[in-house]
Amino acid sequence: MSRELIDLAIERLREDFPNKSKSWIRRALIRFMKNTVKEFGENVWVVKGLPELGDKYPTYVVRLRDGRYYCSCFESNWGLRRKSEICTHIAAVILYRNYKKLDSDVYASVINIECVDYYLEIPSELKGRVRVVKSVRVVDSSDRLNPRHRVTYVIYSSEPMEVRTKLVCDGDVRELSLKLTRTRRYIVELLVR
Ligand SMILES: [Zn+2]
Repeated sequence: MSRELIDLAIERLREDFPNKSKSWIRRALIRFMKNTVKEFGENVWVVKGLPELGDKYPTYVVRLRDGRYYCSCFESNWGLRRKSEICTHIAAVILYRNYKKLDSDVYASVINIECVDYYLEIPSELKGRVRVVKSVRVVDSSDRLNPRHRVTYVIYSSEPMEVRTKLVCDGDVRELSLKLTRTRRYIVELLVR
């Protein structure tokens, strides 16, 4: 396991559950690092119980249904209390999925520009197949009303392809043909942090 990917996977978990405590994150991380999560089928995972974290059963089953996670620990004695919260078995599964996603291949292209006004147009027929993320940093704000930005666009897809785009930078319009080449998902995250 890569440290950098784990850090990013935890960051995503924190963003998704900003009100959860440090100990909740820590317990999810322990479960993940001890390799207790196994994919069992589509949207089903088995999480090995850890007695040191208070688990009474050797295994727990986590399911994802209609966008919601359910854990078999909900059905135990403590179920009623636990149902309203997200247990750390589920958190470990989310961490596992975040990690796997970051570790997967994508096809990407990067554009770096410096402009006051900028816009990148992706053909509408590619919407859904191609995603765009960007990071924007002000590099010159001496003209307060028109600060200059350094913009990094990452255009990526789950498949290799060539994407025709229109890039507008301070009134200068350029037609670009971008070849999306193979990289890892976490590289995309690092580029636009
Ligand atoms: Zn649970």
